[in-house]
Amino acid sequence: MKPITDLIHHSYLPPGDFASPQFPVHKASTVFFTDVEQMRDRQWLDKSGYTYGLHGTPTTFVLEERLCQLEGAQHAVLLPSGLAALAQVNLAFLKQGDEVLIPDNAYGPLKTLVQAELANAGITHQLYDPMRVSDLAQRITAQTQLVWLEAPGSVTLEFPDLLGLLKVCQQHGVLTALDNTWGAGLAFQPFDLMPGSGERTGVDMSVHALTKYPSGGGDVLMGSVTTCRADLAKALKLSHMRLGFGVSGNDVELVLRSLPSMALRYDAQDHSCRQVAAWCLQQAVFAQVLHPAVAASPGHAHWRQLCAGDVVDGGLVHGGGRAASLLSLRFHSHVTPQQVDAFCNALSLFKLGYSWGGPMSLVVPYDLTHMRQHADAALLQGGFVRLSMGLEDPMDLIADLEQALRQALS
Ligand SMILES: *Cc1c(COP(=O)(O)O)cnc(C)c1O
Repeated sequence: MKPITDLIHHSYLPPGDFASPQFPVHKASTVFFTDVEQMRDRQWLDKSGYTYGLHGTPTTFVLEERLCQLEGAQHAVLLPSGLAALAQVNLAFLKQGDEVLIPDNAYGPLKTLVQAELANAGITHQLYDPMRVSDLAQRITAQTQLVWLEAPGSVTLEFPDLLGLLKVCQQHGVLTALDNTWGAGLAFQPFDLMPGSGERTGVDMSVHALTKYPSGGGDVLMGSVTTCRADLAKALKLSHMRLGFGVSGNDVELVLRSLPSMALRYDAQDHSCRQVAAWCLQQAVFAQVLHPAVAASPGHAHWRQLCAGDVVDGGLVHGGGRAASLLSLRFHSHVTPQQVDAFCNALSLFKLGYSWGGPMSLVVPYDLTHMRQHADAALLQGGFVRLSMGLEDPMDLIADLEQALRQALS
């Protein structure tokens, strides 16, 4: 053999008994078969074998199984972003003439997806008020094929009666998909909302933006869809195959590496967020502190019921249940939009940027007026910002907020 061929077909194989903490990164487009029979017979749908990089590698199979463990599911597919995972569910289960229902406070890009690509494909949608189960119930028709759920809602963080909404969907035999990025498999169990009740009540599918807590670094984009139902898993995997959604082995490795510390990071950021919330509740400049553990925050009782928070102290639940790392603030109307912008610009530890779940705290100002159909008029008054806590010391975060307020309002 010529040296160049030998470089490709070199026969050396290292000893196989290598064990170390991290699972190896397998990367492939091509996967080899030993003979034609195997090429024809191998199955990837049930994970009994490998056929092509897009249909799974040992590395992607391992992450899928760990995500099933995290969320209490049986099957998973990986997508190149959280938004792609939301799109995948819509594309696998909706066709021309169908209708999909979306909560008014859904993750914004899900709304734009249904308004553009899905509308172009002849799929209609309605926005329901997630805080009124009866509003969802009256919108379900014979065309309704899928209902999206999110707890709490994006940006405004109202916590819905998830169980109530789910029961209405189940009574009508409509598929349910939950955007579970906030709960992350830690705050509650999406496939068993009443653990220990003897009755298993859960959503049909859970979508998780792994970009957030599972990655934890602010440097990976990935999403997943999990389910307990074999029929839904098969439909998802076949649609996933036809669409050609793949994820990079190196990105999967980063998520696998971060998963073991996810619960610790989640709890640290949650703790820090509640300390910041407690401080914000003392500041007269804020008309509202929106956070599910704040007693006056919309849907607080639903959060307590689902996420088992039970220790109330000074208008805020401390240390009970799980409540993630997000907090939104509505300023009183006397604070001008320019002052709200100046506040955001004056922050130094909180960086201006989208997303959450990484090591650095972030801030985003929002104009809610074009973002909500069903919101209370009061919610739309005054400047609005969302904070997400990173892993910094909460006392430093509070000092940063304090200096930025002083600078912006002076
Ligand atoms: C970030 C996010 C997504 C989308 O995740 P990407 O990976 O950024 O596409 C979806 N849903 C929620 C609730 C999110 O916060």
